[in-house]
Amino acid sequence: MEAVSRADLAQILAEIEHRMRLAEDRGTVAGYIPQLAGIDPAQFGISVALPDGTACSAGDAATPFSIQSISKVFTLAIALGRLGDQLWSRVGREPSGLAFNSILQLEQENGIPRNPFVNAGAIAVTDAILAGHQPREVLGELLRFIRLAAGDDAIHINRAVAASEQATAHRNIALAEFMAAMGNLRNPTALTIGTYVHQCAVEMTTDQLARAGRFLVNAPGCPRLVSPARIRRINALMMMCGHYDGSGEFAYRVGLPGKSGVGGGILAVVPGRASIAVWSPGLNASGNSKLGTEALEHLARATGWSVFG
Ligand code: GLU
Repeated sequence: MEAVSRADLAQILAEIEHRMRLAEDRGTVAGYIPQLAGIDPAQFGISVALPDGTACSAGDAATPFSIQSISKVFTLAIALGRLGDQLWSRVGREPSGLAFNSILQLEQENGIPRNPFVNAGAIAVTDAILAGHQPREVLGELLRFIRLAAGDDAIHINRAVAASEQATAHRNIALAEFMAAMGNLRNPTALTIGTYVHQCAVEMTTDQLARAGRFLVNAPGCPRLVSPARIRRINALMMMCGHYDGSGEFAYRVGLPGKSGVGGGILAVVPGRASIAVWSPGLNASGNSKLGTEALEHLARATGWSVFG
């Protein structure tokens, strides 16, 4: 994969930001979490962090946003660190081809979610790391991991966003209860869902998120929080499952492992080179940031960054 100079990167990001500012169709902001529903869709930020921790940014790169499902990458890394391959008895590694919050497969496949990034799978992962711990401890560990990866102790959980999601979490509670009925939930549903909504409510800027994503870049200078073998596996899962039923389209258009969140953020990894975070709150039909995806497509084309050669 090509190395791109800092000056070229700055110019590419400025061009992308300019183009995205002018976009008329910005997608639709997620409406089902009340605290997120009112966010101004005109915002757009993008950051590229290099292995040494320096970052190049454009647009609203210093505005904190709700990382939502991007948190699932960090909890997966923690769960694999704790349980290793045992985790795979609770959750699969296949793309779902269904919406992020679908319950269909769960019934057909005996309560074992397809992958750790659909909601059911992420709830199972959170349940797994809760074993023998208090939610406070699990959330503390998650924040420690993210802060260490980003090199930034200011990263925090937005309690109002968590409470807002908790109050409307009927579907996620249904997923958890169904898994409990099938023997794939070990803690009380309220405890697991309470932890899950708080992990989703971590707030970061694109600058912070891009720096945090360096733990998946696997290059000298990056924080060493998981082994290279595990980095490859997490990246594989991000490529296959990171954008729900839009994962194939994202791989086709961008060609990099990525994970989206309904807050409009996307984390993408350029193995050996960089970590990218982009944020624009409007979503496409698959629940992934519309302009975020377009921006990454431009960036991948302009830099030649793709895992496919
Ligand atoms: N907290 C969100 C939910 O469970 C996460 C979904 C997402 O970001 O895709 O609905």
